[in-house]
Amino acid sequence: MPEKVGLIGLGIMGKPMGKNVLKAGFPLTVWNRTISRADELKESGARVANSPKEVAENSDIIITIVSDSPDVQEVVLGDDGVIHGARSGSVVVDMSTISPQVTREIANALREKNVDMLDAPVSGGEKGAMEGTLSIMVGGDAPVLERVRPVFDAMGKRIVHIGENGMGQVCKLANQIAVVLNNLSMSEALVFAAKSGADVSKVLEAIQAGAAGSWALNNYAPKILRRDFSPGFMVSLQQKDLKLVMEAARDMNLSLPGTALTYELQKSLQAHGLDKEGNFALVKVIEQLAGVKVKGES
Ligand code: NAP
Repeated sequence: MPEKVGLIGLGIMGKPMGKNVLKAGFPLTVWNRTISRADELKESGARVANSPKEVAENSDIIITIVSDSPDVQEVVLGDDGVIHGARSGSVVVDMSTISPQVTREIANALREKNVDMLDAPVSGGEKGAMEGTLSIMVGGDAPVLERVRPVFDAMGKRIVHIGENGMGQVCKLANQIAVVLNNLSMSEALVFAAKSGADVSKVLEAIQAGAAGSWALNNYAPKILRRDFSPGFMVSLQQKDLKLVMEAARDMNLSLPGTALTYELQKSLQAHGLDKEGNFALVKVIEQLAGVKVKGES
C-alpha cells in the first residue's frame, strides 16, 4: 500500500506538485486557506480537508508548501495545525523556502510528538513543478528521506541530502545568493554594452558561450532584449528569500556585500510597483542609473 500523502498550500507550486503526487498513485488529502483553489485537485481525485489538522489525521506524510516562516509555523504549530492531528511515526515535509532557524524549531517541536520532519525546499519554478523536474534540497535524517523518496520522485529529478534539519534551507538560500549575483552581473554587462552603443544581441551571442556564460545569460537575457519581464520567479519572492539570507548572515556575523547590495537595489523595484515582475527586472534599476535601456537589434 502506498503511503497516504497530505498537502497543505495549493499555490503556484503546490497545486502542480499535488497533481504529480496523485499521478504517481498516492492517495492525497489537501487543504488550502482559500478553499476554491482546491477544486482542480478534488476533480483529479484528492480528498479536501477542513484544516491542516484534519490533513494530518488522514496522512502518513504531510507536505507543506506555503509562503514564509510565520506561515509554516501557523499551519504546522497553530491552533488547527498539523501537530495536533499528526500520528506518532508520521513525517512532516516542509517544501516552502523559509528560515533555517525556524525550521529547526519546528523540527524540535514535532520530534517531541514523535513526528519526523524534513526541510525540502525546491528550485525549478512553476515549470519544474508542472513537469515533475524540481531540484529538492533535503535536511533531516537519511532514513526519513529514504521513506519519503518515492513521493519526492513524483515531484523532482535531483534529490540531494544536504545534512541535518535546516540544511535543506541553507542550501536553498545559497542557491538564491548565486541567482541574484548572476542577475546583477548580467545586468551590468548588458547595460555597459548598451550605453557604449553596441548591438546587445551580438554581444550576448558572443559572450554566452565563454567564461561569462550562465543560466541567467541563456534564459533571462533574451527576455530582457524582448522587454518581456513576465515572471518565472517574482521580485517579491526573491526579496523574501534575500531577507532570509540577510537574517541568517547577520546571526553568523557574516558579510555578504554583493547580496546586501542586490537586496537594496531590488527595493527600488518594489518602490516602483514592479515586485510582480520576474527577478531579472533587476536590470531596470541598473538601466535607470545609466539612463539607457537594453534592447534587441540596435
Ligand atoms: P503562492 O502561489 O503565493 O502560494 C502560496 C500558498 O501558501 C497559497 O496556497 C496560500 O494560500 C498559502 N499560504 C500563505 N500563507 C498562509 C498562511 N498563513 N496560512 C495558510 N496558507 C497560507 O506561492 P508559491 O509560488 O507556490 O511558493 C510557495 C513556496 O515555494 C514559497 O516559500 C516560495 O518561496 C517557494 N518557491 C517558489 C518558487 C516559484 O517559482 N514560485 C520556486 C521555488 C520555491 P492562499 O491560496 O489562501 O493565499
